[in-house]
Amino acid sequence: MTRFVDVSNMIRWVRSQGPETIIKDLIQYMEEDFRRWARFDKTPRVASHTPYGVIELMPTSDHETYGFKYVNGHPSNPTRGYQTVTAFGVLADVHNGYPTFLAEMTILTALRTAATSAMVAKALARPDSRVMAMIGTGSQAEFQALAMRTALGVAKLQVWDTDAAAVNKFIRNMVPLGFEIDFASSALEAVQGADIITTCTADKTQATILSIQHIAPGIHLNAIGGDCPGKTELDPSILEIGDVFVEYESQTRIEGEIQQMPADFAVTEFWKVLLGAAPGRTSEDQITIFDSVGFAVEDFSALRYVRDAVDGSEFFEDIDLVANPDDPKDLFGLVGALSPVG
Ligand code: NAD
Repeated sequence: MTRFVDVSNMIRWVRSQGPETIIKDLIQYMEEDFRRWARFDKTPRVASHTPYGVIELMPTSDHETYGFKYVNGHPSNPTRGYQTVTAFGVLADVHNGYPTFLAEMTILTALRTAATSAMVAKALARPDSRVMAMIGTGSQAEFQALAMRTALGVAKLQVWDTDAAAVNKFIRNMVPLGFEIDFASSALEAVQGADIITTCTADKTQATILSIQHIAPGIHLNAIGGDCPGKTELDPSILEIGDVFVEYESQTRIEGEIQQMPADFAVTEFWKVLLGAAPGRTSEDQITIFDSVGFAVEDFSALRYVRDAVDGSEFFEDIDLVANPDDPKDLFGLVGALSPVG
């Protein structure tokens, strides 16, 4: 049997723990996996692009467990009542290839993207960062805000989105959680006095959400929205004035902000900072840029964490996903009998 966490169980489990606790715990799982980076099979994700958006498969393995996520990115979906990003994921045993764990990952992706942002910001942002500019207040936004509070104690949010309804939704969700929120009238207003800027917009184009005038010395830029070929958020000149950190360089060269830069443009894979093999922030005034696209190891960590966390709980069910004849060579026996089964 395969353990399955469906949408309603995921919602019940997240509510029972609280998203902030989950993000905090997930950061630990993720740091564990980033610290053993060399053990993982790594490949840029497999993407199928159409004018509508992209559908991607994100595989990895630590040679004991294999995992993959199915995820889409369709920036115009919300205008038709669909979400921009949806996902599900699987873990399997490497020794026999059987899937052991299956989970919804639309909610889990938002949690893991938030945990990734937090893990990186914890290492790269100034430790006294308390104010974050949030550009784009769609599905990911609340999770990102909670992550930055968990990682650094961010208490004030300066938000901007071209869609006023999305900002109102964000304020409605976040004010009860104790954040101080300023509703800016432009990206430029939102970034004034911010310690961290998170860009989290969705547009299937090379947008310029931020240009060099938005970036003050010492800022940590958490750029998560540009994650596809032809889909970026930053004016490339920003990348020249900061130090750029990435998840997995070969994938980010294709999908991240650095797709706008020459192939030899210098970046640092974040796992090296975590292991002390490369410098992170080296001065108060340094501009650190996390060019986030989302990598398979993060989904692996998230699935591993949920699998462990729901063990012994009521938040999963066993499903019959793999046909399993008594004689492993007699698959036909399951379907070939003349009399109806059951
Ligand atoms: P969403 O569609 O729910 O929200 C995006 C928001 O951006 C919308 O409210 C939209 O009005 C706003 N927006 C668009 N253009 C803007 C502009 N020029 N200025 C200000 N706001 C603008 O999408 P989402 O699920 O929140 O995802 C946001 C982005 O993050 C997507 O591009 C998605 O692909 C990406 N993403 C990245 C990762 C990662 O790991 N890096 C993970 C998940 C999602």
